[in-house]
Amino acid sequence: MKQAPEWSTNSGIDLGIYPGINPERIAFDIDGVVADTMEMFVRLAHERYSLMHLTKESISCYNLYDCLGLEKEVLDDLICLTLDDEHTLQIPPVPGAPEVLTELARHAPLLFVTARIWPESITEWLYLQLPEVSPDRITVIASGDPEGKLDILNELKIRFFVEDRVDTCRQLKKGGIQPFLFEQPWNRNETEEGFIRIENWTQLKEWVLPTDRKVR
Ligand SMILES: [Mg+2]
Repeated sequence: MKQAPEWSTNSGIDLGIYPGINPERIAFDIDGVVADTMEMFVRLAHERYSLMHLTKESISCYNLYDCLGLEKEVLDDLICLTLDDEHTLQIPPVPGAPEVLTELARHAPLLFVTARIWPESITEWLYLQLPEVSPDRITVIASGDPEGKLDILNELKIRFFVEDRVDTCRQLKKGGIQPFLFEQPWNRNETEEGFIRIENWTQLKEWVLPTDRKVR
């Protein structure tokens, strides 16, 4: 039986019950987990509005209207630009994500559940990031609303979900799905117990990739 990684033992969770994860039972959020979407947001803030003081580290809360001190019109425009088709395709991946997902796809099909309204451009983006993964091994579901993820995941019998929005992690946890909180500047100040915190894809890899153990 695989031991829980050493770094995870201070998470306040009995990790003994998660000796390994069946790769068919895990799914992923995209923005902030696989796609480094806020990198594009910051780039656009610099280019379009000369907001040179803005960095990813300065994004200290998930709701951008609460923590950036920008005018609503400016923020609306930056969010629209970041998520439009043209800029979505230019978003850099979170370091390590393409490599781990490519490997994972050899063991199970990949499932992504995003709160975006339209799945097309981010699906196209995934195809570009994962050229070695056949598109029929990649499923993207757009819930249109973070609150909609729980029902979708339960319906698909997903037991683990990697997510960067703390409120979604709380909701999933209540609904019986074990969240992995993917650490980002906007969730670092949350002291919530009960989530497995993941700092990067190297750590996540230890959980999601089958090693010599039997996959349950
Ligand atoms: Mg996200």
